[in-house]
Amino acid sequence: MVLAVVERDGRGSLSAASGEVLGTARELAERLGVAVAAVAVGEAGDLPDDLAKQGVGRLHLLAHELLDGGGPARLGEALAGLVATLAPAAVLGADEPGVTDAMAWAATMVGAPLATACTEVRPGDDAWEVTRERSGGILLEDAVLAGPVRFCTLRPGGPAPSETAAAAEVTVDVVVPELDTTLPHATLVERRERSAGMSLATAPVVVAGGRGVGSAGGYAVLEELAGLVGGVVGCSRVATNNGWRPHSDQVGLTGTRISPDLYVACGISGATQHWVGCMNARSILAVNTDPEAPMVTRATWAVIGDVHTVLPAVVAEIRERSRRR
Ligand SMILES: Cc1cc2nc3c(=O)[nH]c(=O)nc-3n(C[C@H](O)[C@H](O)[C@H](O)COP(=O)(O)OP(=O)(O)OC[C@H]3O[C@@H](n4cnc5c(N)ncnc54)[C@H](O)[C@@H]3O)c2cc1C
Repeated sequence: MVLAVVERDGRGSLSAASGEVLGTARELAERLGVAVAAVAVGEAGDLPDDLAKQGVGRLHLLAHELLDGGGPARLGEALAGLVATLAPAAVLGADEPGVTDAMAWAATMVGAPLATACTEVRPGDDAWEVTRERSGGILLEDAVLAGPVRFCTLRPGGPAPSETAAAAEVTVDVVVPELDTTLPHATLVERRERSAGMSLATAPVVVAGGRGVGSAGGYAVLEELAGLVGGVVGCSRVATNNGWRPHSDQVGLTGTRISPDLYVACGISGATQHWVGCMNARSILAVNTDPEAPMVTRATWAVIGDVHTVLPAVVAEIRERSRRR
């Protein structure tokens, strides 16, 4: 069996990332000649219907009051117990912090290998090969997993899952795990939205500023431009380190990875750790005084000039054009 760890989205349906995990689980299961089962936490809700559409006929529901906000250690322990009972060939989950942390605990508890951020999983007779992302996605690494159970987290955004026949029915097994309350664990205290409105991760346009903006006050013109083009403001780590912007605005390896239609990089050099956060933008406009800056040489378009001159001119031109319309 291939066991897929699945999660719900904000509406209670199967999350998009979990749908992709099930697609890979199905392909692996077909090659191995085994079935796919899913595991989730809490109430069944819409999951059985969503799983049926994905051709998955069995759902294991981990039910325990300590799993509600219990953090990854407890979920990992519950998952390890299920894996010990079911002995699947592989456990797959989305490469998202909550799932990855829980799978790391579970893999450690059952003594199995774990590969995170996989873009491909190739089963073999004994050892399995995986390709996984490293350094924020700029490197791809081939690795071999040796062990009777292989834990893999999958990077979202892989090839679309192939079409499948729906399962006639989904059997739901409610599993009440035995949890060791003396194990070290983190407990969720509160979860809150970072900001209201459009988020950095989903905005179609991001106007970001780096050291070249010069000060916290210098972002006013970026805010204005972002407002005019229906976008949000982002920044480099220099800006967060200097206290000019909150960390929630940071784009990059240790910030948010974004894929807007347009990324406007103002006074940002394009260091690797920043680039991995914005390299999936459809187009990039760099505004920089240095024609040799990596951001300029990689951008779709570049304006060589001072942000303090270029941005006010762009804002004035947009205002003038909308006044004339
Ligand atoms: C482990 C690790 C993780 C990191 N994670 C991140 C991350 O998530 N995000 C991130 O951004 N960085 C990250 N960094 C830092 C990264 O390496 C760079 O130091 C940072 O991105 C540089 O920010 P910057 O481009 O604003 O500044 P600089 O590299 O100093 O570049 C400033 C640019 O502005 C231009 N400029 C200067 N004045 C003007 C002006 N008046 N008008 C126009 N252009 C001007 C300059 O020509 C230059 O190209 C990380 C580093 C490490 C070690």
